[in-house]
Amino acid sequence: MLQDAPRRWLPEPEVKQLLADVGVRVPAGRLARDAAEVASAAAALEAPLVLKAVVPGLVHKSEAGAVRVGLADARAAGLAAAQMAEALAARGLRAEAFLVEEQAAPGVEVLVGVAERPPVGRCVVVGLGGVQAEVLADASLRPWPVDAEDVLAMWDELRGSRLLAEFRGRPAVDRSALVEATLAIAGEKGLVAKLGARVAELECNPIVASERGAVAVDARLALYADEPPAAPPRRIADFTPLFEPRSIAVVGASATGRSGFGNLFLRNYRAYGFAGELWAIHPSAKEIEGVPAFPSLGETPEPVDYALVAVPAERAAEVLRSARGRVRFAQVMSGGFGETGEAGRSLERELASAAQEAGLRLLGPNCMGVWCARGRQTFLGGAPERSGGVSVISQSGSLAGDILKHGDRMGIGFASLTTIGNSVDVGAGELLRWLVDDPHTSAIGLYLEDPRDGAELVAALRAARGRKPVVLLVGGISRQGGRAAASHTGALAGDALVWRGIAAGTGAVLASGLEDLLGALRFLERHASRDVPASPGVLAIGAGGGANVLAADACDRAGLEVTPFAPALERELRERFRLGAGTSLANPIEVPVGPLADPQLAPAVVRAALGSVALPDVLLHANAQSFFSFADDGETPLLRLVEAVGALARELPATRVTLVLRNAACAPDGVAARVRAAADTAGLLCYDSLDAAASAIAAGKRWSAAHASRARQK
Ligand code: ADP
Ligand code: MG
Repeated sequence: MLQDAPRRWLPEPEVKQLLADVGVRVPAGRLARDAAEVASAAAALEAPLVLKAVVPGLVHKSEAGAVRVGLADARAAGLAAAQMAEALAARGLRAEAFLVEEQAAPGVEVLVGVAERPPVGRCVVVGLGGVQAEVLADASLRPWPVDAEDVLAMWDELRGSRLLAEFRGRPAVDRSALVEATLAIAGEKGLVAKLGARVAELECNPIVASERGAVAVDARLALYADEPPAAPPRRIADFTPLFEPRSIAVVGASATGRSGFGNLFLRNYRAYGFAGELWAIHPSAKEIEGVPAFPSLGETPEPVDYALVAVPAERAAEVLRSARGRVRFAQVMSGGFGETGEAGRSLERELASAAQEAGLRLLGPNCMGVWCARGRQTFLGGAPERSGGVSVISQSGSLAGDILKHGDRMGIGFASLTTIGNSVDVGAGELLRWLVDDPHTSAIGLYLEDPRDGAELVAALRAARGRKPVVLLVGGISRQGGRAAASHTGALAGDALVWRGIAAGTGAVLASGLEDLLGALRFLERHASRDVPASPGVLAIGAGGGANVLAADACDRAGLEVTPFAPALERELRERFRLGAGTSLANPIEVPVGPLADPQLAPAVVRAALGSVALPDVLLHANAQSFFSFADDGETPLLRLVEAVGALARELPATRVTLVLRNAACAPDGVAARVRAAADTAGLLCYDSLDAAASAIAAGKRWSAAHASRARQK
């Protein structure tokens, strides 16, 4: 792996010169061979001075006593050098040289670093820095290289970003100097780009930022001993035969038993109405499950578009080799490969080379299959009949079934779902690129664990930005850090930071769990093609009391803004709708929403409010519990409300209306399902909780922003 490849650290003075060459400010300094030379070299510099020992291989100089700051003059610097040499010698270290430099004026210590971050490739980290960088753990990340928009957002994202503004009498730091320094290091034309693929890592920690500019007072650069080989040219298969195969062969069905996966798949294809050629592969049988059987993939009557391979891991490579160029896509379901350890990894390598030999594209191993209603392609029994615009790529086979069936229940129409498991050949990045151009796909979901083609995936996400909405769910993200890293940059780049940064840098949505993924995809499937302004505002409305307070909290958590209306508008609404002084009409809006209320009231208030304040989203919440606590028949008024809100949603061209049915479990059996079905018919999205709705709305806003930014750049 690249991150383990041998590397060479350049001496600090050399790195500082490289930085100066691209316009990053560094302290004026001189290199001296020994203590005596330090004093004379320092004479040309302006005190106070800083002295550092140049010790090859020493990573954190200050920990070894190899940094002295606040030296009053050249003589003090000379003395300090003599002491430092002695102290280092006591630790068995030898200073190769000394760097004496001017001390930067006080400011905020920040860091900027660029490092290879497996599996996603080069990343840029900025954060609060200095020797306490890891303790503060206040950093933000983007895939490399960054542009000015990225950099501004990165500094703003820090928890401590207020330290960069005017703070307790100290003037604000020169933000544009900081942005320029960041770009000079990590931008498209920055130092890392200039040095190319041999850069393993570049870190400036700290950069001292003040009102007078940004000075890189420490800098480390590691180059790979051998320049890494250029990435192989990107290839994108035409995946049409995978989703709409004309011929399918199933390998691994039993001629005697009926319970194996292979047999199940054959039955599922027939039940789902697959109309192309369906074959079984079996050494001796002539027919399995009523399907004609042939001895190998190379002996079917016609070439095979899609081969589903369900045989033990040790036999999979041999099965692929037998295809002899007559199979386009093969999916190896079987587990027991790289996920199990070294023996499995060796089987996996063998499988990959067998696929190459056979001239086929391989999905998996360790996955489930493909689903696509257009091609009657399925791996599930009882697969959805509904189809729509959502395409999903899943590294997990078992979650894929959850996504498809649960999503279908929620009302999502899927265009395709592909499980890629260990993805030794076809990876998430390649598929994503194809789906971005797929006319059947309007929104894309990804479930990832350890993408093998991380760098390609990031490139594909960048290519998707603003073109099609992408929602990422990354499993295992909570195991923070865990990677031994010599640099601050590496230590800070834990999984959560990496994926948040990739999402932010590519405009993708990062989902927190399966429900959240599906909630976001549903919202995007419905609304992505609508022209809705990209602004954070939401109108929240529902029956008064605690739920409205919680609605505002849920919006806040999701990064949405529920901004109170101007008093004049509030007064106008109150008078017009004759609402009592006890209710708030300021956003969040409190209006009667219940079994005894006029179902047209809330929609009418929304209409009136939006006449004065343009807001791209409305979150309207109803409480199923109250509909059945304060009326004998709660269902009729609930359905009337859904109808009225649906009509509102349909008439607003640039506003998305989202309904929340709280406490659905408090309604008698069957009611919630009927309400959801009615909402669906009315063209209204209905969520079960305030948080679920707020999160989906936030996903919609992120897409609107990415789309608008792409339109601006064009
Ligand atoms: P280390 O290898 O331990 O990171 P640094 O060169 O970053 O060593 O020095 C340690 C600390 O000393 C810095 O975080 C900074 O606070 C201070 N420092 C070093 N050089 C300068 C300088 N030229 N001007 C001001 N402060 C400096
Ligand atoms: Mg440092």
